[in-house]
Amino acid sequence: MTSDPTLLERLLAKRLLVPSGVDGLYGRSGAFESIIAGIDSIATRVSANDGTEWYRFPPAMARVEFERSGYMKSFPQLAGTVHAFCGDDHGHGLLIDQIEKGEDWSGGQEKTDLVLVPAACYPLYPMVGAQGPIRDGGRSFDIQSYTFRHEPSKDPARMQLFRMRENVRVGNQEQVLSFREMWIERAKAIMTELQLPFDIVPANDPFFGRTGRLLKASQREQGLKYELVIPVANTAPTACMSFNYHQDHFSQIWDLRFENGERAHTGCIGFGLERIALALLRHHDLDLERWPAPVRKALWGQ
Ligand code: 5GP
Ligand code: ZN
Repeated sequence: MTSDPTLLERLLAKRLLVPSGVDGLYGRSGAFESIIAGIDSIATRVSANDGTEWYRFPPAMARVEFERSGYMKSFPQLAGTVHAFCGDDHGHGLLIDQIEKGEDWSGGQEKTDLVLVPAACYPLYPMVGAQGPIRDGGRSFDIQSYTFRHEPSKDPARMQLFRMRENVRVGNQEQVLSFREMWIERAKAIMTELQLPFDIVPANDPFFGRTGRLLKASQREQGLKYELVIPVANTAPTACMSFNYHQDHFSQIWDLRFENGERAHTGCIGFGLERIALALLRHHDLDLERWPAPVRKALWGQ
């Protein structure tokens, strides 16, 4: 897969994105953020009558919950942990000395109680578990957060810190699957309205290593993950949304149960906000003024 170097260069030249010196870490201009706000407003509009509970979590979560989630079994290569200096004056002197000499100063860092959020829905399940039994109809949530994945890349669509807007369903199997179907249809309508070329394809998560290969295959076989892909910067289309059915994976970990004691199932759908913004920039123009009027209207009502 060769990535198109010119899209990133053009985005930086136009100052839509601002470089940090680190691949995959960018500042965003007001114009770029206005696209994100437009996509957010569409996500709000299409689900206005769903009776969704809104929560917003910071981009870090409790390390103990992260450990329980099993993320390190599946995606150790992507996680970002938060460490901090917890030493005394002597340790401080050593730290400054090491930094000044350009030496490795990580030895003095200790783990904190925080881990960066790898997907917007991760902080939600511990909350749902702690809130007790789930009523018959299940629960639906709307969340949005910055998320971290350690995968530096020159592809502007592969960032290390990016936002996911998610809708999460906690219910029985039928409720979760019909929720996912509904969102696949909504996603198609949204991308059509935004005049973006797209496809919906079976997909898998980037499970690590040799055992990961089996997990990838089984996830595809069972139809647990679909993605909405759009050509962005790569020659291969990029996943801009995902539609996930977790079965009772998270429910087992955080003991999500209905009032009758039955275990719940979960599923989530995610908008990759930066990726959709990049798709719009790539397909319509880097100058937002030149976008088709119906696309502008869908995003900003004007
Ligand atoms: P998933 O949890 O399915 O891997 O990710 C959910 C969505 O987040 C993806 O469909 C995609 O739109 C977005 N996403 C995943 N990885 C990246 C990334 O590296 N950079 C950006 N900007 N978005 C990503
Ligand atoms: Zn999710």
